[in-house]
Amino acid sequence: MAMPRNMSHDPLWFPYTQMKTRGQYLKVVSARGVYLHLEDGRRLIDGIASWWSAIHGYAHPELDEAIREQLDRIAHVMLGGLVHQPAIDLAQKLVEITPPGLNHVFFGDSGSVGVEIALKMAIQYWANCGRPEKHKIIAFRGAYHGDTSGCMAVCDPDEGMHKLFAAILPRQLFADGPTRCLPDRTPSAEEIEADLAPVRRLLEDRRQEVAAVIIEPMLQAAGGFRMHHGDYLSGLRALCDAHDVLLIFDEVATGFGRTGRLFAAEHAGITPDIMVLGKALTAGYLGHSATLTTTKVYEAFLSDDSSKALMHGPTFMGNPLACAVALRSIEIFQRENYLQRIAQIESLLKEHLLPLREATKEKVRDVRVLGACGVVEAYKPADLAGVQQFGMDRGVWLRPFDRYVYTMPPYVLSDEELLRVVGVMREWFERRG
Ligand SMILES: *Cc1c(COP(=O)(O)O)cnc(C)c1O
Repeated sequence: MAMPRNMSHDPLWFPYTQMKTRGQYLKVVSARGVYLHLEDGRRLIDGIASWWSAIHGYAHPELDEAIREQLDRIAHVMLGGLVHQPAIDLAQKLVEITPPGLNHVFFGDSGSVGVEIALKMAIQYWANCGRPEKHKIIAFRGAYHGDTSGCMAVCDPDEGMHKLFAAILPRQLFADGPTRCLPDRTPSAEEIEADLAPVRRLLEDRRQEVAAVIIEPMLQAAGGFRMHHGDYLSGLRALCDAHDVLLIFDEVATGFGRTGRLFAAEHAGITPDIMVLGKALTAGYLGHSATLTTTKVYEAFLSDDSSKALMHGPTFMGNPLACAVALRSIEIFQRENYLQRIAQIESLLKEHLLPLREATKEKVRDVRVLGACGVVEAYKPADLAGVQQFGMDRGVWLRPFDRYVYTMPPYVLSDEELLRVVGVMREWFERRG
């Protein structure tokens, strides 16, 4: 059944959508592998893995089974004063696979909540250390960290929702992100210095007030798909250490292989003080997040004073179904050697997408590829008007926004399927000469 056209009667309110002028939505009735099956009988390759979460595609038999098995035991129980095996096992597994030193895991129920927990953890860390004046956060222009208040305050100050919610958002500090240290070429010491200069200036001026620097490592995702080199992150790590400030990696988008390593931090071989995982954590099955930290940070919360405990506790944290599916997802990822497949996806994306840069210069401002993420940046949003329909007519689901059309596909798609996704992006720019 088609959605009613009278928008005043829509009970269902869609995200980031002007409901008055929205188009027709497609109804998905089922999904298998990398295909979304629509009510009208069409099937579309999901080129963006349900906002980058469904890394194994849909209805993966083992993941379905993990959920069913857990469901037979218990669907949910509160983590306050009670515990269950999947939460214990997932915490242990995440400590094992994340960068060395991240030894403690706090669960949340979405990426935004995971980031809120990270921010509170950093600020309370300094309060517990007797430095309550260190409560500001340095974030980067172009960043996206989620939609709740604390998160909005560290999103890009111009593109984010700062203006709309200025009255309630804390004023954080913003640095320009790296522009010289790009992923494909080892940057010189001078380039790293020049890229770090804006954040260095802020740290030199405001270190007494700053609790932490938060960054999306290697890939700013929803804020515009800007990419940088791992050496920039190593420099940032050293800078934070020198100025006595914590470093938070928001790996909600980059975690679980998206940038070509299991975690983006591995490109730099460093350990952040706090790291947030979400999206692919549960392989697209359930909302969940994990905020990890080091023993140094954790120990600042250990005290005979109960008010020094971490003051957070989402109702559904550590949900057993979410933990069970996350554990099975990690098992499959490792067993099937997904990193090797992601490297193949990266080289196909480079081979077939990068040539657009030269071939269609007048339409394309830039093309960027890192791991299983490929983006074409147009000059203006109007250049992408119609590209979504264009993709659907060719059996591919894409969701371009602003001036970006991108793919972040499920890792299990075949070469042929990947080339169909990439083909849509190429054809769109090539056909309009
Ligand atoms: C998606 C995203 C979030 C927010 O996650 P939700 O689950 O949508 O709340 C936070 N940070 C980054 C980097 C993201 O990509």
